[in-house]
Amino acid sequence: MEKFEQIFSYINEKAEEHEKTENISFLDGVLQALEDILDEKDSWMGNNATKEEIRKAIQIAILKGMRKTSQPNHQMTPDTLGLLVGYFVEQFFEEQLKTKQISLLDPAVGTGNLMLTVMNLLNGKVSATGIEVDELLIRLAADTAELIEQPVMLYHQDALQKMLVDPVDAVVCDLPVGYYPNEEVALDYELCAHEGLSYAHHLFIEQSVNHTKEGGYLFFLIPANLFESEQAKELHKYLKKHTWIQAVIQLPDNLFASKAHEKSILILQKKSDEQRAPREVLLAKVPNMSNKQALSMFFEKVQVWKKNK
Ligand code: SAM
Repeated sequence: MEKFEQIFSYINEKAEEHEKTENISFLDGVLQALEDILDEKDSWMGNNATKEEIRKAIQIAILKGMRKTSQPNHQMTPDTLGLLVGYFVEQFFEEQLKTKQISLLDPAVGTGNLMLTVMNLLNGKVSATGIEVDELLIRLAADTAELIEQPVMLYHQDALQKMLVDPVDAVVCDLPVGYYPNEEVALDYELCAHEGLSYAHHLFIEQSVNHTKEGGYLFFLIPANLFESEQAKELHKYLKKHTWIQAVIQLPDNLFASKAHEKSILILQKKSDEQRAPREVLLAKVPNMSNKQALSMFFEKVQVWKKNK
């Protein structure tokens, strides 16, 4: 058995025990199992495992828990998407990462899987802040981060209300999609809908831009039809005023359960007086991941764009 499978089996067994004896959900059982491990960390089997082995094992246990009791906001960002986002963060910060750490914010951090996948990829070069409204998810994120020893600050709050977070170099976020119910808070945003409820995903983009340094980059997983809604015109106007669109990357449709769930990657740069817009926006489609040749052509296209940007 591979190391991460051994760790998963261990967490799984402990979570099932908690589920039975305390009559709680399997996902709550996973949280309990992680907290038990943290209490007795010295003798833990994961001590000689890599950060990725531990993250993957916890991720599989959480996914199992999410499948058992499905809740609409319990959506973890899968590895394939996390690794692609991480690749782009690495490309856009290539120069800075040679000499210094970067600060990262995920305002909808969920289980932390996306943020921690990026942090593991750029190991040692990122400190991060995560915000999440769901208490169970943020506790899972906190325990995972502690077990893999990644430096994170987590806040349990509505990310669209005032946040005590200094501007960051980069934002990564798998946007929560839907309407934002708090109309009073929405009034503080340029992207507040003129009529009816505002789109939470639009407000998340604005809040993220507000918390990014000038010249910093934002990497969003967006619904593939983001620019087709009836509020898309306002979003375009907002993006043009405050940011430079760097890239819109379509993702392979076989990664998603249905057309309605398809996502793309949107990369923005917050405007700055010292920099300029890219010569052209990178528009590309990630091919089917099993097609190695097409995939390497995709990465080559990104490199060519980067050189000429
Ligand atoms: N990247 C995350 C991961 O890997 O687990 C998944 C993010 S999921 C697509 C969106 C998350 O946004 C959910 O965990 C949901 O609870 C959270 N969310 C929704 N509205 C929020 C709000 N107003 N403030 C903070 N978090 C919110």
